[in-house]
Formats: sequence, C-alpha cells, structure tokens
Amino acid sequence: MAKDEAKKVVYSGTINVNNNGVEEIGQPDIHQEMRRLEDENKVMLHTLRRLEEETVLLRELFNKANGELSNIKKPALLVADLISVVEDKAVIKLPNGNKFYSFISPDISGLQSGDSVLVDQKGLNVVQRINVNAQTEVEKFVIIQKPKESWKEIGGLKKEIQEVKEVIELPLKKPELFKKVGIQPPKGVLLYGPPGTGKTLLAKAVAHSTNATFIEVVGSELVQKFIGEGAKLVKDIFALARSKAPSIVFIDELDALAATRMDTGTSGEREVNRTFMQLLSEVDGFKALDDVKIIGATNRLDILDPAIIRPGRLDRLIEVSLPDEEGREEVLKVHTRSMNLQKVNVKEIAKKMENFSGAEIRAACTEAGFFAIRDNRDHVTKDDFLQAIEKVRFEDLEDEDHQKLFG
Ligand code: ATP
Repeated sequence: MAKDEAKKVVYSGTINVNNNGVEEIGQPDIHQEMRRLEDENKVMLHTLRRLEEETVLLRELFNKANGELSNIKKPALLVADLISVVEDKAVIKLPNGNKFYSFISPDISGLQSGDSVLVDQKGLNVVQRINVNAQTEVEKFVIIQKPKESWKEIGGLKKEIQEVKEVIELPLKKPELFKKVGIQPPKGVLLYGPPGTGKTLLAKAVAHSTNATFIEVVGSELVQKFIGEGAKLVKDIFALARSKAPSIVFIDELDALAATRMDTGTSGEREVNRTFMQLLSEVDGFKALDDVKIIGATNRLDILDPAIIRPGRLDRLIEVSLPDEEGREEVLKVHTRSMNLQKVNVKEIAKKMENFSGAEIRAACTEAGFFAIRDNRDHVTKDDFLQAIEKVRFEDLEDEDHQKLFG
C-alpha cells in the first residue's frame, strides 16, 4: 500500500479500484496535470505582480512620510532682505533691522539687491531666493478704493473745498497749466481740525472728482508694526501709489507718526522715527507734478513735527473746524436730503446743534429716524430731532467723562 502511495505521488496518476477491491494505478493524465500547474503558475504570477505593486506604493508612502518627518525636524528658515551681493557673500537685513554679512549657497545664482531670500537660522547663510509680493502685503494693510463721495456730499466747508480743489484737483487735472505759468503746486496738503469735521470726506471727494485711486493708511497703525516694518511699509505704500497713479495717499492720524518727540531714545521711539524719516524721504522723492498727491489729516496740529510741513512737503495747511450755524444747516441739508421730514425747520434744528461736528449732525439725523421708526411712523418730526440732539449730546458727554477717567 505504501508502495502504491509512493507511485501515486510519483506518477500522479488516477487510482481505480477493481471489482475485487484491489487498487489499480491508472495512467497519469499529464495534460490535466500540466494545466493545473499552469493555472497555479498564473495565480502565483498574479500574486507576485500585486505584491510588487503594493511594495512600490508602500515605498512611496514611506518616502513621503520620511520626507515630512525630516521637514518637521528642520528648523524654519528666516526671511531676509538682500542689501547687496559681494562675490559669494551677501549683506542681508533681518526683519528686526539687524544686518549680517553671510555666505550664499552655491546653488543660487543671479541674486540682486532688493531680493527677498531665505536664510538658515544658525549660520544665516542664504539658501534660497523667494518671491514675496510686497504689493499684496501692503494691500492687506491699506484701504484702496475709488471713492463715490462727491463734492455734493459735503455740507458747508466752501473755503476748504476751494483750497483742496486748487492744490490737489487742479494739478492732477491740468498739470500743463502749472508748467505754463512756471510754478510748482504743493505735493500735498495737511487737513487739521477736530474729529468728525469732514477731513476724510474732503480727501475722498477730491479723489472722486479726479478719478484717482484713494489709498488710506492710518498713522497709528503704521507705528504699531514690527520693528523695521513701518519704514518698509511706507516705502511700499508709495510704490503702490505710483503703480496706481493718479492716486491720493491719505494718511489719517498723521500725528501718531509725525509728532515732535521727547528724545527718550527707547527702541519704540527710534522705530517711529525711522518710519517718519522714510515718509519724509518718500515725500521728497517725488516731483510736485507727479500723479501722486498726499493728504495728511490730524486733530493735533500743536504736536506735529515741523519737518513734515516744511516747504516742498505738506506745506499747505487747511484748517477744517467745527461748522458754524450756517455750516451746520448745510451739513443738515445734506443728511436730510433723502429723509421724509414733516414740519421740520432745518434752520431751527441747526441752531440747536451748537458745537456739533459734521459726524455728530449725521448721527443725530440717524437717531431722529430711529425715533420715528420706534413710533411706527414713516416720517420724521421736529420732536424726533430734538430728542436725537439730546441723545447725541449726552453720549458725547459720557465719552468725555470716560476719556477723563480712563484716558
Ligand atoms: P477724524 O478726525 O475723526 O478722522 P474726519 O474729520 O476725517 O474725522 P470724516 O470722517 O470726514 O471726519 O467725517 C465723518 C462723517 O461725518 C462723514 O462720513 C460724513 O458723513 C459726516 N460729515 C462730517 N463733516 C461733514 C460735512 N461737512 N458735510 C457732510 N457730512 C459730514
């Protein structure tokens, strides 16, 4: 039996059992056997291919994870400005203002001063050049618009409008006139006066009338930037203004930037000073008849550094003061133009708005409208205005008290 089994294995033939119960070894079916082996072979080949594909895939995954891991382990690179290139070395400036003389990696070529580069933290070697779009950086910081406010939106301020037209509008619209006469118009103006008297409105209206791009920047925000960034931002703002010319750069709260300082010598002081110096050099850098004009605005002319209002800079000062009774009436007319008034004597209301700024007059108009709405009316009465005036005046007094208490 064992012998037969051995034969079974060797021949792999069929085993038949005869009538007497004896096993007989039949002829092995070689073709069938070969087919079976071929089938097995195919399956194994298929499995092999699948495993090979899986190996490639897993290797890729491994390499990716490994790459990510080594990237995570690497210290971040610093972004620096390239000041100048000296053979294989460069003078770089870090955002904190410090300058270094460092090596340039041999893989980089064609570096130019002004480029933004990546440097490693340890050795400060320049390892890569990058494209940092200064324009988009600055666009995040300023407000750029084509204002819709026209001269008609300004109540009163006739003299001020006249002056702004003369100094800003005329040189932008008719520069040839100045060339013929042979005079240099001011590069910009300084509007000064209490808050809410229409300084921004004047600047926007002149941008509208000249179809200029209005670029608004707030002085106090400029000085809050990181060390070294304020000055760069000023530079970029003016570059942006040139690229979008004709344009008007409106610097609100100029005093935050250009206040006369007691020389305490703190780093913050020095930083504000650097930003201010950059502003002066930008103002000095362009010609009076360029398509870029600057309008500065401040509530504190008394603390302003005289350097900014020297001839050739913002040398035309325009005072925008609180409106008198006639002015208030004009402002009131502007803001009640689209209101549904009933038996309201604008002159009489203006009289009651003593010491109100344009902004407060506008606030009183809105409040009067709210009193009407609360009363389920679609028209505004004299009484609504009287209550609104009291409300605005009371809020102002509260603000003043708060200011006195908390500064
Ligand atoms: P700040 O010094 O606080 O920046 P500002 O002098 O620039 O104030 P604006 O921002 O121009 O004041 O005025 C605020 C709002 O008050 C204006 O949007 C406008 O609605 C209203 N306003 C001020 N003055 C006038 C005016 N003369 N005529 C019509 N509206 C005015």
